[in-house]
Amino acid sequence: MRSWSAQNVPSLPGSSVPLRLYDTAARQVRLTDPGPTARMYVCGITPYDATHLGHANTYLAFDLVSRVWLDGGHQVHYTQNATDVDDPLLERAEQTGQGWRALAEREIELFRTDMEALRILPPRDYVGVTEVVDQVAALVSRLAAKGVTYTVEDDVYFSVADAPKFGEVSGFSREEMLPLFGERGGDPERPGKRDPLDWLLWRAERPGEPSWPSPLGPGRPGWHVECTAIALDHLGGGFDVAGGGTDLIFPHHECGASEGHAATGEWPFAKFYTHAGMVALDGEKMSKSKGNLVFVSKLRAGHDPMAIRLILLAHHYRTDWAYTADQLQAAEARLETWRSAVALGAGPDAEGLLAEVRERMADDLDAPGALAAVDAWAARALRDGGSDPAAPALVRDLADALLGVAL
Ligand code: ZN
Repeated sequence: MRSWSAQNVPSLPGSSVPLRLYDTAARQVRLTDPGPTARMYVCGITPYDATHLGHANTYLAFDLVSRVWLDGGHQVHYTQNATDVDDPLLERAEQTGQGWRALAEREIELFRTDMEALRILPPRDYVGVTEVVDQVAALVSRLAAKGVTYTVEDDVYFSVADAPKFGEVSGFSREEMLPLFGERGGDPERPGKRDPLDWLLWRAERPGEPSWPSPLGPGRPGWHVECTAIALDHLGGGFDVAGGGTDLIFPHHECGASEGHAATGEWPFAKFYTHAGMVALDGEKMSKSKGNLVFVSKLRAGHDPMAIRLILLAHHYRTDWAYTADQLQAAEARLETWRSAVALGAGPDAEGLLAEVRERMADDLDAPGALAAVDAWAARALRDGGSDPAAPALVRDLADALLGVAL
């Protein structure tokens, strides 16, 4: 389906710095080593509600990954899905008396608008699951042919006993996995399963639910396997980064990794599993069930989207943090200061600043460190002036290219 519009990313003078990134599976920061085209898959939204700050925080993190790679001269092949048919979407549609397709389309369109306003670079492939049901069914058939699946009443499950690498992405023990599996869409207690952690690949048709014909019988895709199928179709196995929020580490990325391994025989399925922290409000993680969401579209009404972007950049992507309204005021003040500084006819030399921002961003996306460096340059420019007529334009370009902030 349609992605959203890309802004032009200015190219910067001098030498780039290769990206070092935290890999959840390795439990450490490692050097990324993409080919001429870096390949990244980031799990998309389930479009039953508007984009909130937690979503924006996740997509911003991977936008920064793209920007560091682009600065390094790589092309970026970025793929994202939208889970446009799944239980939460169907439940919301049922509660509100609207069609699930109309609900999904409306929320996906709002998501595109929010992402574009925040200057998040768009995926090359933005794929709705309902567009690729055949491909997902084909992957499930491929897994069945490998002997790693079984059925419970016509529903197809992946057998965790046939997943030798299961646990390597999250590093979780079985005791840690079990409660999370139940909380995050799994069905550990279903009778007839061989292991509580076996996960659903194909959900057979139920009365009143959408379904598609397939060689597996009529039904619809399970959650984890949709991303595996889309990643394999667009990026192939062994791609550079699989991304999402920390709530996707288990079971979503763990299960997807084992699916990819079983289908291709290759390990790892993704070279990096990278996760953004959770955003809280009033001390609790933002979530639909708690009703404590701060919607991007509401913040955008009356506030510059670049200030919203600066709120997110002020927190390291891997930290969990809590949103408070004073952060918006601080971001607006910072934006105004930066804009005043680059509006001067000349400024202090900015080549050192460029090197520092590159180094900070390449160091596991240290955006707060990069902001501090720009703050220092802007304070000097406004206090002392400067004699370099090229400096303001260079700062404008580096803020745009590496931080995505339009000044
Ligand atoms: Zn996913």
